[in-house]
Amino acid sequence: KAKERGKNGYELYTPEMDELYLSKFTMENDLRKAIQDGEFVLVYQPQVHIPSFEIVGTEALIRWRHPERGIVSPGEFIPIAEETGLIVPLSEWVIREACRQNRAWQLDGLPPIPVSVNLSVRQFLQPNLTERVAAILIETDLAPEYLELEITESMTMDVEFATAALMRLKELGLRISIDDFGTGYSSLNYLKSFPVDKLKIDRSFVRDIMDDPNDAAIVRTIITMAHHLGQTVIAEGVETEEQLAYLRTYGCDELQGYLYSPPLSPEKLRERLQSEANRVQGGTSTA
Ligand code: C2E
Ligand code: MG
Ligand code: MG
Ligand code: MG
Repeated sequence: KAKERGKNGYELYTPEMDELYLSKFTMENDLRKAIQDGEFVLVYQPQVHIPSFEIVGTEALIRWRHPERGIVSPGEFIPIAEETGLIVPLSEWVIREACRQNRAWQLDGLPPIPVSVNLSVRQFLQPNLTERVAAILIETDLAPEYLELEITESMTMDVEFATAALMRLKELGLRISIDDFGTGYSSLNYLKSFPVDKLKIDRSFVRDIMDDPNDAAIVRTIITMAHHLGQTVIAEGVETEEQLAYLRTYGCDELQGYLYSPPLSPEKLRERLQSEANRVQGGTSTA
Protein backbone atom coordinates (compact mmCIF):
# COMPACT_ATOMS: atom_id res chain seq x y z
CA LYS A 1 0.00 0.00 0.00
CA ALA A 2 2.73 2.40 1.00
CA LYS A 3 4.47 1.59 -2.20
CA GLU A 4 1.31 2.38 -4.18
CA ARG A 5 0.88 5.67 -2.40
CA GLY A 6 4.49 6.41 -3.04
CA LYS A 7 3.99 5.53 -6.61
CA ASN A 8 0.93 7.74 -6.83
CA GLY A 9 2.78 10.59 -5.20
CA TYR A 10 5.55 10.15 -7.67
CA GLU A 11 3.09 10.11 -10.54
CA LEU A 12 1.97 13.60 -9.64
CA TYR A 13 5.41 14.88 -10.50
CA THR A 14 6.72 12.80 -13.35
CA PRO A 15 9.27 14.42 -15.62
CA GLU A 16 6.81 13.75 -18.44
CA MET A 17 4.31 16.03 -16.75
CA ASP A 18 6.91 18.73 -16.29
CA GLU A 19 7.61 18.40 -19.95
CA LEU A 20 3.90 18.64 -20.74
CA TYR A 21 3.54 21.86 -18.74
CA LEU A 22 6.74 23.19 -20.19
CA SER A 23 5.66 22.45 -23.73
CA LYS A 24 2.23 23.97 -23.09
CA PHE A 25 3.91 27.07 -21.72
CA THR A 26 6.28 27.12 -24.69
CA MET A 27 3.36 26.62 -27.04
CA GLU A 28 1.49 29.55 -25.50
CA ASN A 29 4.49 31.85 -25.95
CA ASP A 30 5.13 30.53 -29.43
CA LEU A 31 1.47 31.10 -30.31
CA ARG A 32 1.55 34.66 -29.02
CA LYS A 33 4.60 35.37 -31.14
CA ALA A 34 3.21 33.53 -34.17
CA ILE A 35 0.12 35.75 -34.16
CA GLN A 36 2.36 38.83 -34.18
CA ASP A 37 4.66 37.42 -36.85
CA GLY A 38 1.89 36.09 -39.08
CA GLU A 39 2.93 32.42 -39.12
CA PHE A 40 -0.58 31.14 -39.91
CA VAL A 41 -2.00 30.20 -43.27
CA LEU A 42 -5.38 28.99 -44.43
CA VAL A 43 -5.94 25.99 -46.66
CA TYR A 44 -9.24 25.44 -48.42
CA GLN A 45 -11.14 22.19 -48.84
CA PRO A 46 -13.69 22.07 -51.67
CA GLN A 47 -17.30 21.19 -50.92
CA VAL A 48 -18.96 19.61 -53.92
CA HIS A 49 -22.52 19.14 -55.04
CA ILE A 50 -23.10 15.39 -55.22
CA PRO A 51 -25.06 15.01 -58.42
CA SER A 52 -23.01 17.52 -60.47
CA PHE A 53 -19.62 17.40 -58.75
CA GLU A 54 -19.40 21.16 -59.03
CA ILE A 55 -17.55 23.03 -56.29
CA VAL A 56 -20.27 24.85 -54.38
CA GLY A 57 -18.20 26.04 -51.41
CA THR A 58 -14.93 25.75 -49.53
CA GLU A 59 -14.01 25.37 -45.88
CA ALA A 60 -11.09 27.44 -44.62
CA LEU A 61 -8.85 25.39 -42.31
CA ILE A 62 -5.99 26.92 -40.36
CA ARG A 63 -2.38 25.73 -40.43
CA TRP A 64 0.57 26.99 -38.39
CA ARG A 65 3.86 27.23 -40.22
CA HIS A 66 6.10 26.88 -37.20
CA PRO A 67 9.68 27.96 -37.93
CA GLU A 68 11.17 24.83 -36.29
CA ARG A 69 8.35 22.30 -36.20
CA GLY A 70 7.01 22.80 -39.71
CA ILE A 71 3.27 22.60 -40.34
CA VAL A 72 1.33 22.22 -37.09
CA SER A 73 -2.30 21.09 -37.37
CA PRO A 74 -5.17 22.86 -35.61
CA GLY A 75 -5.90 19.87 -33.36
CA GLU A 76 -2.60 20.63 -31.59
CA PHE A 77 -2.89 24.36 -31.03
CA ILE A 78 -6.58 25.34 -31.15
CA PRO A 79 -7.27 23.82 -27.68
CA ILE A 80 -4.36 25.80 -26.19
CA ALA A 81 -5.43 28.93 -28.02
CA GLU A 82 -8.95 28.45 -26.56
CA GLU A 83 -7.58 27.98 -23.04
CA THR A 84 -5.38 31.04 -23.15
CA GLY A 85 -7.81 33.35 -24.92
CA LEU A 86 -5.39 33.72 -27.84
CA ILE A 87 -8.15 32.19 -29.94
CA VAL A 88 -9.92 35.55 -30.10
CA PRO A 89 -7.29 37.46 -32.10
CA LEU A 90 -6.46 34.29 -34.03
CA SER A 91 -10.07 33.67 -35.04
CA GLU A 92 -10.49 37.26 -36.04
CA TRP A 93 -7.54 36.84 -38.39
CA VAL A 94 -9.08 33.63 -39.82
CA ILE A 95 -12.38 35.32 -40.69
CA ARG A 96 -10.66 38.36 -42.19
CA GLU A 97 -8.21 36.28 -44.25
CA ALA A 98 -10.93 33.91 -45.53
CA CYS A 99 -13.14 36.85 -46.56
CA ARG A 100 -10.23 38.69 -48.16
CA GLN A 101 -9.18 35.62 -50.15
CA ASN A 102 -12.72 34.83 -51.24
CA ARG A 103 -13.25 38.40 -52.45
CA ALA A 104 -9.90 38.28 -54.31
CA TRP A 105 -11.03 35.15 -56.18
CA GLN A 106 -14.27 36.87 -57.14
CA LEU A 107 -12.41 39.95 -58.39
CA ASP A 108 -10.28 37.56 -60.43
CA GLY A 109 -13.43 36.49 -62.25
CA LEU A 110 -13.79 33.05 -60.68
CA PRO A 111 -17.31 31.73 -60.06
CA PRO A 112 -18.34 33.13 -56.66
CA ILE A 113 -18.80 30.53 -53.91
CA PRO A 114 -19.17 30.84 -50.15
CA VAL A 115 -16.25 30.21 -47.81
CA SER A 116 -16.99 28.65 -44.46
CA VAL A 117 -15.07 29.38 -41.29
CA ASN A 118 -15.03 27.46 -37.99
CA LEU A 119 -16.10 29.58 -35.04
CA SER A 120 -14.40 28.91 -31.71
CA VAL A 121 -16.33 28.62 -28.47
CA ARG A 122 -14.90 31.83 -27.01
CA GLN A 123 -15.57 33.69 -30.21
CA PHE A 124 -19.18 32.59 -30.19
CA LEU A 125 -19.53 33.89 -26.62
CA GLN A 126 -18.12 37.33 -27.50
CA PRO A 127 -20.89 39.88 -27.02
CA ASN A 128 -19.73 41.94 -30.03
CA LEU A 129 -19.24 39.03 -32.44
CA THR A 130 -21.88 40.26 -34.89
CA GLU A 131 -20.32 43.73 -34.99
CA ARG A 132 -16.84 42.24 -35.51
CA VAL A 133 -18.06 40.08 -38.40
CA ALA A 134 -20.00 42.97 -39.95
CA ALA A 135 -16.89 45.15 -39.80
CA ILE A 136 -14.78 42.45 -41.51
CA LEU A 137 -17.35 42.04 -44.29
CA ILE A 138 -17.27 45.77 -44.97
CA GLU A 139 -13.49 45.96 -44.72
CA THR A 140 -12.99 43.08 -47.18
CA ASP A 141 -15.93 44.09 -49.38
CA LEU A 142 -17.36 40.56 -49.33
CA ALA A 143 -21.11 40.16 -49.77
CA PRO A 144 -22.46 38.38 -46.66
CA GLU A 145 -24.01 35.47 -48.59
CA TYR A 146 -20.43 34.37 -49.42
CA LEU A 147 -19.54 33.81 -45.77
CA GLU A 148 -20.67 30.78 -43.79
CA LEU A 149 -19.96 30.31 -40.09
CA GLU A 150 -19.67 26.82 -38.62
CA ILE A 151 -20.74 26.25 -35.05
CA THR A 152 -20.78 23.01 -33.07
CA GLU A 153 -23.54 21.54 -30.98
CA SER A 154 -21.59 22.30 -27.80
CA MET A 155 -22.06 26.01 -28.47
CA THR A 156 -25.83 25.63 -28.36
CA MET A 157 -26.23 24.26 -24.82
CA ASP A 158 -27.50 27.63 -23.63
CA VAL A 159 -30.39 27.62 -26.06
CA GLU A 160 -31.55 31.14 -25.32
CA PHE A 161 -28.12 32.67 -25.74
CA ALA A 162 -27.38 30.66 -28.88
CA THR A 163 -30.71 31.51 -30.50
CA ALA A 164 -30.18 35.23 -29.94
CA ALA A 165 -26.56 35.12 -31.13
CA LEU A 166 -27.45 33.14 -34.26
CA MET A 167 -30.39 35.40 -35.08
CA ARG A 168 -28.14 38.45 -34.91
CA LEU A 169 -25.56 36.78 -37.19
CA LYS A 170 -28.25 35.69 -39.63
CA GLU A 171 -29.52 39.26 -39.86
CA LEU A 172 -26.21 40.14 -41.49
CA GLY A 173 -27.21 37.86 -44.35
CA LEU A 174 -24.59 35.16 -43.91
CA ARG A 175 -25.05 31.41 -43.57
CA ILE A 176 -24.80 29.18 -40.52
CA SER A 177 -23.93 25.50 -40.44
CA ILE A 178 -23.61 22.96 -37.64
CA ASP A 179 -20.27 21.14 -37.81
CA ASP A 180 -19.58 17.57 -36.65
CA PHE A 181 -23.33 17.09 -36.45
CA GLY A 182 -24.45 14.13 -34.39
CA THR A 183 -21.44 13.98 -32.07
CA GLY A 184 -22.45 16.55 -29.48
CA TYR A 185 -25.30 17.64 -27.31
CA SER A 186 -28.30 17.77 -29.58
CA SER A 187 -31.83 18.83 -28.92
CA LEU A 188 -34.30 18.51 -31.73
CA ASN A 189 -36.15 21.34 -30.08
CA TYR A 190 -33.35 23.79 -30.76
CA LEU A 191 -32.73 22.42 -34.21
CA LYS A 192 -36.21 23.36 -35.32
CA SER A 193 -35.94 26.92 -33.99
CA PHE A 194 -32.31 27.81 -34.81
CA PRO A 195 -31.70 29.69 -38.06
CA VAL A 196 -29.37 27.02 -39.43
CA ASP A 197 -28.84 26.57 -43.17
CA LYS A 198 -26.77 23.42 -43.25
CA LEU A 199 -25.91 20.30 -41.28
CA LYS A 200 -22.47 18.74 -41.65
CA ILE A 201 -22.67 15.01 -40.91
CA ASP A 202 -19.65 14.11 -38.80
CA ARG A 203 -16.89 12.06 -40.35
CA SER A 204 -17.24 9.33 -37.72
CA PHE A 205 -20.66 8.30 -39.09
CA VAL A 206 -19.53 8.46 -42.70
CA ARG A 207 -16.41 6.39 -42.07
CA ASP A 208 -18.28 3.17 -41.19
CA ILE A 209 -21.34 3.76 -43.32
CA MET A 210 -20.73 0.56 -45.33
CA ASP A 211 -20.00 -1.72 -42.35
CA ASP A 212 -22.09 -0.45 -39.48
CA PRO A 213 -25.85 -0.52 -40.04
CA ASN A 214 -26.33 1.84 -37.09
CA ASP A 215 -24.08 4.49 -38.60
CA ALA A 216 -25.84 4.05 -41.93
CA ALA A 217 -29.21 4.50 -40.24
CA ILE A 218 -28.01 7.65 -38.47
CA VAL A 219 -26.74 9.12 -41.74
CA ARG A 220 -30.02 8.42 -43.54
CA THR A 221 -31.96 9.91 -40.63
CA ILE A 222 -29.88 13.10 -40.57
CA ILE A 223 -30.36 13.54 -44.33
CA THR A 224 -34.12 13.10 -44.08
CA MET A 225 -34.46 15.33 -41.04
CA ALA A 226 -32.34 18.12 -42.55
CA HIS A 227 -34.43 18.08 -45.70
CA HIS A 228 -37.70 18.19 -43.75
CA LEU A 229 -36.33 21.21 -41.87
CA GLY A 230 -35.38 22.88 -45.16
CA GLN A 231 -31.66 22.52 -44.51
CA THR A 232 -28.84 21.47 -46.82
CA VAL A 233 -26.85 18.44 -45.72
CA ILE A 234 -23.17 17.76 -46.38
CA ALA A 235 -21.17 14.63 -45.52
CA GLU A 236 -17.71 15.17 -44.04
CA GLY A 237 -14.76 12.85 -44.55
CA VAL A 238 -15.98 11.03 -47.65
CA GLU A 239 -13.05 8.86 -48.78
CA THR A 240 -14.45 6.08 -50.98
CA GLU A 241 -16.65 5.62 -54.04
CA GLU A 242 -18.84 3.25 -52.02
CA GLN A 243 -19.52 5.93 -49.43
CA LEU A 244 -20.33 8.40 -52.20
CA ALA A 245 -22.72 5.95 -53.90
CA TYR A 246 -24.51 5.39 -50.61
CA LEU A 247 -24.83 9.11 -49.91
CA ARG A 248 -26.06 9.75 -53.43
CA THR A 249 -28.70 7.04 -53.10
CA TYR A 250 -30.07 8.63 -49.94
CA GLY A 251 -30.06 12.15 -51.35
CA CYS A 252 -27.19 13.78 -49.46
CA ASP A 253 -26.65 17.17 -51.13
CA GLU A 254 -22.90 17.71 -50.86
CA LEU A 255 -19.66 16.09 -49.84
CA GLN A 256 -16.38 17.23 -48.41
CA GLY A 257 -13.59 14.68 -48.26
CA TYR A 258 -10.39 13.22 -49.58
CA LEU A 259 -12.31 11.36 -52.32
CA TYR A 260 -12.77 14.65 -54.11
CA SER A 261 -9.95 16.70 -52.61
CA PRO A 262 -7.91 17.27 -49.44
CA PRO A 263 -7.57 20.85 -48.19
CA LEU A 264 -5.61 22.84 -50.80
CA SER A 265 -3.34 25.87 -50.80
CA PRO A 266 -5.06 29.01 -52.12
CA GLU A 267 -3.07 28.68 -55.37
CA LYS A 268 -4.21 25.07 -55.90
CA LEU A 269 -7.81 25.87 -55.09
CA ARG A 270 -7.70 28.75 -57.52
CA GLU A 271 -6.52 26.35 -60.26
CA ARG A 272 -9.36 23.96 -59.42
CA LEU A 273 -11.95 26.73 -59.63
CA GLN A 274 -10.43 28.04 -62.85
CA SER A 275 -10.41 24.67 -64.61
CA GLU A 276 -13.97 24.04 -63.46
CA ALA A 277 -15.08 27.41 -64.84
CA ASN A 278 -13.42 26.54 -68.17
CA ARG A 279 -15.08 23.13 -68.21
CA VAL A 280 -18.53 24.61 -67.60
CA GLN A 281 -18.03 27.43 -70.14
CA GLY A 282 -16.59 25.10 -72.74
CA GLY A 283 -19.62 22.85 -72.41
CA THR A 284 -17.38 19.81 -72.01
CA SER A 285 -18.91 18.88 -68.69
CA THR A 286 -18.37 15.24 -67.92
CA ALA A 287 -20.99 15.15 -65.18
P1 C2E B 1 -13.59 20.30 -38.97
O1 C2E B 1 -14.08 21.70 -39.01
O2 C2E B 1 -14.57 19.23 -38.77
O3 C2E B 1 -12.76 20.13 -40.32
C1 C2E B 1 -12.68 18.93 -41.03
C2 C2E B 1 -11.40 18.20 -40.74
O4 C2E B 1 -11.45 16.94 -41.38
C3 C2E B 1 -10.16 18.91 -41.29
O5 C2E B 1 -9.06 18.62 -40.42
C4 C2E B 1 -9.96 18.20 -42.63
O6 C2E B 1 -8.64 18.26 -43.11
C5 C2E B 1 -10.34 16.79 -42.26
N1 C2E B 1 -10.80 15.99 -43.41
C6 C2E B 1 -11.43 16.45 -44.52
N2 C2E B 1 -11.73 15.43 -45.35
C7 C2E B 1 -11.30 14.31 -44.77
C8 C2E B 1 -11.32 12.92 -45.16
O7 C2E B 1 -11.82 12.52 -46.21
N3 C2E B 1 -10.79 12.03 -44.27
C9 C2E B 1 -10.23 12.43 -43.09
N4 C2E B 1 -9.71 11.49 -42.30
N5 C2E B 1 -10.18 13.73 -42.71
C10 C2E B 1 -10.71 14.65 -43.53
P2 C2E B 1 -8.10 19.76 -39.89
O8 C2E B 1 -7.82 20.76 -40.95
O9 C2E B 1 -6.95 19.08 -39.21
O10 C2E B 1 -8.97 20.48 -38.80
C11 C2E B 1 -9.36 19.81 -37.64
C12 C2E B 1 -10.34 20.64 -36.83
O11 C2E B 1 -9.70 21.82 -36.32
C13 C2E B 1 -11.51 21.15 -37.65
O12 C2E B 1 -12.48 20.15 -37.79
C14 C2E B 1 -11.96 22.32 -36.80
O13 C2E B 1 -12.78 21.88 -35.74
C15 C2E B 1 -10.66 22.83 -36.24
N6 C2E B 1 -10.22 24.01 -37.02
C16 C2E B 1 -9.59 24.07 -38.21
N7 C2E B 1 -9.39 25.34 -38.60
C17 C2E B 1 -9.92 26.12 -37.64
C18 C2E B 1 -10.05 27.55 -37.45
O14 C2E B 1 -9.66 28.37 -38.28
N8 C2E B 1 -10.66 27.98 -36.30
C19 C2E B 1 -11.16 27.10 -35.37
N9 C2E B 1 -11.75 27.61 -34.27
N10 C2E B 1 -11.06 25.77 -35.51
C20 C2E B 1 -10.45 25.28 -36.63
MG1 MG C 1 -15.52 22.68 -39.80
MG1 MG D 1 -16.36 18.68 -38.94
MG1 MG E 1 -14.53 19.89 -35.80
